[in-house]
Amino acid sequence: MDMHEACGKCGQRYHLEPSFYSGAMYVSHALQVALLTSVYVALRVLFNPESENVYIITTIASAVVLLPVNLRLSRSIYINFFVSYNKEYDVQ
Ligand SMILES: [Zn+2]
Repeated sequence: MDMHEACGKCGQRYHLEPSFYSGAMYVSHALQVALLTSVYVALRVLFNPESENVYIITTIASAVVLLPVNLRLSRSIYINFFVSYNKEYDVQ
């Protein structure tokens, strides 16, 4: 759940205001729906299991395993709605 305080390259602060990332849950939800749909379609096309329990267990397991990735990715996408990349600040 912890994030870096600021970008290592440009110094952009990641905590813009209190509760800033609560809006990221909408992005997270969209990512989860995309993941679950992708897993379902992949299972259906590749293996076509007869039992619906296979679909349920596999989609839930993939969501749980990828939860940290989803959390970071949704926050990253959300902050990019408000902070744009500025090439001038990119110092290496
Ligand atoms: Zn940066």
